[in-house]
Amino acid sequence: MKSTKYIFVTGGVLSSLGKGLTSASIGALLESRGLKITIMKLDPYINVDPGTMNPFQHGEVFVTEDGAETDLDLGHYERYTNVTLGQINNFTSGRIYYQVITKERRGEYLGGTVQVIPHVTDEIKANIKAAAQDVDVAIVEIGGTIGDIESLPFLEAIRQFRGDLGRTNVAYVHLTLIPYIKAAQELKTKPTQHSVKELRSIGIQPDILICRTEHPIPDELKAKISNFCNVDRDAVITAIDVDTIYEVPLRFHKEGLDNKLVELLNIWTRAPQLGQWENLVNRITNPQKGQVNVGIVGKYVNLKESYKSLNEALVHGGIANNVRVNLNYINSEELEKNGTGLLQGLDALLVPGGFGNRGIEGKMITIQYARENKIPFFGICLGMQLAVVEFSRNVAQISGAASEEFTDKTNDPVIYLMTEWYDHKNKTIINRDRTSNKGGTMRLGAYPCILKKDSTAYGAYNVTEISERHRHRYEFNNQYRSILESYDLIFTGTSPDDKLVEIVEFKNHPWFLGCQFHPEFKSSPLSPHPLFISFIKAGLEYNKKMQGKKK
Ligand code: GLN
Repeated sequence: MKSTKYIFVTGGVLSSLGKGLTSASIGALLESRGLKITIMKLDPYINVDPGTMNPFQHGEVFVTEDGAETDLDLGHYERYTNVTLGQINNFTSGRIYYQVITKERRGEYLGGTVQVIPHVTDEIKANIKAAAQDVDVAIVEIGGTIGDIESLPFLEAIRQFRGDLGRTNVAYVHLTLIPYIKAAQELKTKPTQHSVKELRSIGIQPDILICRTEHPIPDELKAKISNFCNVDRDAVITAIDVDTIYEVPLRFHKEGLDNKLVELLNIWTRAPQLGQWENLVNRITNPQKGQVNVGIVGKYVNLKESYKSLNEALVHGGIANNVRVNLNYINSEELEKNGTGLLQGLDALLVPGGFGNRGIEGKMITIQYARENKIPFFGICLGMQLAVVEFSRNVAQISGAASEEFTDKTNDPVIYLMTEWYDHKNKTIINRDRTSNKGGTMRLGAYPCILKKDSTAYGAYNVTEISERHRHRYEFNNQYRSILESYDLIFTGTSPDDKLVEIVEFKNHPWFLGCQFHPEFKSSPLSPHPLFISFIKAGLEYNKKMQGKKK
């Protein structure tokens, strides 16, 4: 077994500085040097399960292959690196306390006094180590900002790592902000000094400071930061704002970050091979073939964070087609009020996943508009379910067609809750009804799907068996398959036993596809997802066609 080295990433001054992207970029750089890595996120809140948290507050729920509902930072990790993450790569304080309390109830502490140190901190250390098996380097991101009460047990646990494992096996990276004060025309280092002071007061001396800034940091200022914060001069890394997030690894490399890390950790590696990242950034910044305007009609439209993976997957589709993808967020409730005028000028429309009643009608209006005007349409999860409802009502004349998620009064539940359902992943039969506990009844994680050859889906993937990630409770109701098929809604992807519909397509349309899974979770810039490549290509064709008409 390999003896793992650890890089701990903390954040100071304020939140949203990009710790997730920093951790992911470190991962990309170390992989490009040939190292085997893993990345994990420790979240200091008390929720045991990040999956049930409100996307308005917390951003997207990212789903892993093994069906864990995790923090969106895991999405960054998978997009920047080759690692496949799972439940063990994301845990909260809540989960740690839950484990400790469960042990206490079982009598495992033999009646001893159970305390934050050592019991909670030992549990944290054990969870970190469990997720860091068989890799050269584990990158561990600590959520929250230094100074928060909640993250203290995590910080104490990571502090102990250096004593436990030795100096060259542990590195502490601290992400901080160097604000620019306009009136004085000066970059200011004081918040960074304070943040490092705070970190030191709990016993952690950072080895590397990554300084977020809007302006280049002059050498004198780096020297000052180095001096005041007691870090090496070449360990003060500038993280200047960039045009595309995929430039971050390259910038860090130029600043010497990966060199410094391998020096601190005493690892001998090959020089990093960053050619593919350079090509990627080139393609993003100089798209040769024009642009595609995509409309995303959803409920959480105010928060780009809520559709993080989706946004990135659309950008990846653009990279593959050599076009710029402009994302337009349209609030489905606005659309209900103001009509389809809001959809003018868009080359492709997408209805993403979602839960609950709000904004449903606006999404249906969008689907009808895309279907009738032959605008490329992509429905993901809830988007696919609503496409089925819209098609059933307006094309197949099943006027009361509905999803059971929104009404229990319909006679035609084209989307329904399977009450007895075989969970392939866990190989058990699940019985449930509409009142079942919200946490336990979703189809989660990777499931296989078989594609029909003569289809848009097959055209995109070019293979007949795929595997995609799920997160939903409701399914297509097979009773309606033949009637809908007679109206040319075709079922081009199903589970291997043919019981679960995974992909629907409308034949008489250039590109109208709904999928029950979330393809966005498996797209990355270096390997864009086939469905997004195909969707953006269709958008580009639509754009060209419309421009031709204008002339
Ligand atoms: N709300 C729907 C369901 O539970 C769709 C979920 C989703 O879009 N992720 O089946």
